Amino acid sequence: MKKESYMMSHGYNPEWSEGSVKPPIFQTSTFVFKNAAEGKRFFEVAYGKSTLNKDEQLGLIYSRINNPNMEILEERLSILEDSEDAAAFESGMSAISTTMLAYVKPGDTILFSNPTYGGTHSFAHNFLSNIGVNIISFHSDSTFDEIIKKLENGNLDKSLKMIYVETPANPTNALIDLDLVKKIKERFFKKYGNEIVTVVDNTYLGPIWQNPLKFGADVVCYSATKFLNGHSDVIAGAIMGSKEKVSKVKNLRTFLGSMIAPYTAWLLTRSLETLHVRMQYQLENTVRIVDFLSKNGKIKKVFYPGLKSMGKRQLKIYNNQCVAGGAMIGFEVKGNENSAFKVLNSLKLIKLAVSLGSNESLAQHPHSMTHCDVPDDVKKKIGISDGLIRLSVGIENSDDIINDLSQALSKI
Ligand SMILES: *Cc1c(COP(=O)(O)O)cnc(C)c1O
Repeated sequence: MKKESYMMSHGYNPEWSEGSVKPPIFQTSTFVFKNAAEGKRFFEVAYGKSTLNKDEQLGLIYSRINNPNMEILEERLSILEDSEDAAAFESGMSAISTTMLAYVKPGDTILFSNPTYGGTHSFAHNFLSNIGVNIISFHSDSTFDEIIKKLENGNLDKSLKMIYVETPANPTNALIDLDLVKKIKERFFKKYGNEIVTVVDNTYLGPIWQNPLKFGADVVCYSATKFLNGHSDVIAGAIMGSKEKVSKVKNLRTFLGSMIAPYTAWLLTRSLETLHVRMQYQLENTVRIVDFLSKNGKIKKVFYPGLKSMGKRQLKIYNNQCVAGGAMIGFEVKGNENSAFKVLNSLKLIKLAVSLGSNESLAQHPHSMTHCDVPDDVKKKIGISDGLIRLSVGIENSDDIINDLSQALSKI
């Protein structure tokens, strides 16, 4: 079956819940054991003192460790990335921070693609670097040799433990080459035997249009707040990967308490049922809007994966690792912040808000809002100008979105 078919029933059997077609919300903190020996066995396994026998499953203990809504959701998330396992969290940031803390310790180095999501950037630069983790970065047009040289010159090659990549990058849609990331990992594994974990934040394009595990990533992470949930009413996160890679993060999640709550998991499970239709429709809208923007006289440049104007190297990466360009557009209006603000303030249907991937269209100004913290010289280098607007395309009628953009652009 295709992934969208699994989203209706996988991981849940109505017989378990009075024939209920949909999984109920298991709004409970704890679960009753049949007898003391069962409780003992469940804890042995949960705390890693013993492993499961072949046909044995870990029973329900306590909702910080496991809960049916979390488990059903995780089974469906695994389907989306074709992974052995998945872990769900109460936010995208808790998915990211728990994964990093599970794999790096003081003295280790993380190689980051730049730019990354603001919260990820701050966690790395304000928290991880304070506890002695080395942070080093590269961007979409860095070459293999440049990255290797940077690591070696900084004496950080031996301590490299994680490569963390966000592709497409927010808000410029610049793609990072996942083949290149794999090559860096392999080089240091061969040279020093370093166990390097590669993590890809796939929030921006989503599981329908890009599957980083197929390109050698070890872990994929998501802000499930965005496309996976798609209704701007939940904060949640997820990671997917092999059983081995995910279980290390799940163990730490138990102690940090960053697991998803039953109700949040239930809402997200419901949203996954419509993920394919939403994303397909959003893509169709986006293709029309990109075409409209590309022809509009008030616009300097459109940033969208797969466009020729993104350059040859970008196009090659796109053709290799992406299935489609997704539903996020960057466009630079002629003029400066004033012009961009005029457009944003004139929008009537499209809402002026951060976040993305929802069923309603959202627009914002990265230079002064989501990326205000990025130093000006870096902004300039990676194309975050003060005329840039980021648009997340929803499922409204595409003519209505285009008319809204058209009237707002005419105000410049
Ligand atoms: C929103 C976002 C996050 C953070 O997720 P939250 O659910 O807000 O905690 C991480 N990465 C990317 C790319 C995002 O867009």
